[in-house]
Amino acid sequence: MDDDAAVAALQALVRIPTVSVRDPEKVDVAAFDELLVELKRRFPLLHERLELTRVDTHGLLFHWAGATAAHPVVLMAHLDVVPVEGTWQHPPFGGDIVDGDIWGRGTLDDKGSLIGICAAVETLLADGFVPAQDVWLSFGCNEEVSGTSAVLAVDELRRRGVEPWFVLDEGGAIASEAFPGVAAPIGVIGVTEKGVTSVELRVEGRGGHASTPARLGPTARIARAITRIDRSPMAASVPAPTIELFRRMGRHAPLALRPLMINAGRVKPVLTRALIAAGPEPAAMTRTTFAITTLSGAPALNVIAATATAGVNIRIMIGDTVAGVLEHVRRTVDDDQVHIDVVEQNEPSPISPMDEAFELLEQTITEVFPDAVPAPYVMMAATDSRFFCAICPRVYRFAPFRMTKAQRESIHSYDEHLGVDAFLDGVRWYRRLIEGLPA
Ligand SMILES: [Zn+2]
Repeated sequence: MDDDAAVAALQALVRIPTVSVRDPEKVDVAAFDELLVELKRRFPLLHERLELTRVDTHGLLFHWAGATAAHPVVLMAHLDVVPVEGTWQHPPFGGDIVDGDIWGRGTLDDKGSLIGICAAVETLLADGFVPAQDVWLSFGCNEEVSGTSAVLAVDELRRRGVEPWFVLDEGGAIASEAFPGVAAPIGVIGVTEKGVTSVELRVEGRGGHASTPARLGPTARIARAITRIDRSPMAASVPAPTIELFRRMGRHAPLALRPLMINAGRVKPVLTRALIAAGPEPAAMTRTTFAITTLSGAPALNVIAATATAGVNIRIMIGDTVAGVLEHVRRTVDDDQVHIDVVEQNEPSPISPMDEAFELLEQTITEVFPDAVPAPYVMMAATDSRFFCAICPRVYRFAPFRMTKAQRESIHSYDEHLGVDAFLDGVRWYRRLIEGLPA
């Protein structure tokens, strides 16, 4: 498989609209079937030589036997994408190459990684390469809807007694424009991720005609509850990986900022306040966040709501817990007529160590992207890799692709595209990573 074939494979897979939707009835099963057929067609050696276990409806778990099974590694990606939003400059399922970029939903999230891993493995197989360690490829089919694919892959690995040395999934990137004034791209490797938890607040009342309202009915109580939550942030702090991120970026920062960043660990309160003041994104790096997302009241304008609800999406910071956060919500709402139903709950992931496995990722970044500064960070979004924390202490989140700020913002939005050269660098990165696995 040469570079052109790898690029063509990515284009072909982007053209297959494997869109995840929460209602299983509405999933385009044919698209997922087609994707698996196309993947097999594009990567014949991988499918011939690696042992495949089907997981969930369309999830794939490949086992590539290495020289030893002592320190197995898991490389992850997902086959599904989110629905198309907004107006695109080029068709979202076109896979077109325009001015050196491959366009389409999934190029960055996450078919670039999927094809990057497969192309690296395919070329290594063609060369007769045997990895020093067992390599597992885990490709989930419902990451975007928090589906069961990754959980089932973990079950399968556990059943086989596989305890990975490290797990690598999507997350960070070779991010340019990562911080104001820092010219060097930062190779950010997620070492943990915030926990996603959702609750629904609900107030029941008598309803009735809108001409005779009582004070503090269901809608008013819900409104009071959500404004209380909105006004009451939880305690903020800067966790260890973020301090290390600042320390490493600091050396490349403008002179005025350098001391603050390099000494981040010693000026935590100042840094925390600065991040909170800098806007919602930096503020989210310091604490658990609460987003009031859905609201419902009466079905008609002249009806008093018998039930009012509000959905709250919570991203739990390292150091906080689901129990602590729910207690905060209860205390803040301070109204026993507001029922709090937990819809989903996930603790933040443990922080993966920055030992030999992390160093291998760093070295491979430095080799393939010599201008980049490798650094750990806390992921704000959730990935399938969180489930692997149950069987592995070293879970890292990084996709080896150069991404501008605009590209990072296009993920789950519109105009998602990946540079052809950036993609091929990524293939090379996965290849070097597998070649570099220590005996
Ligand atoms: Zn993704």
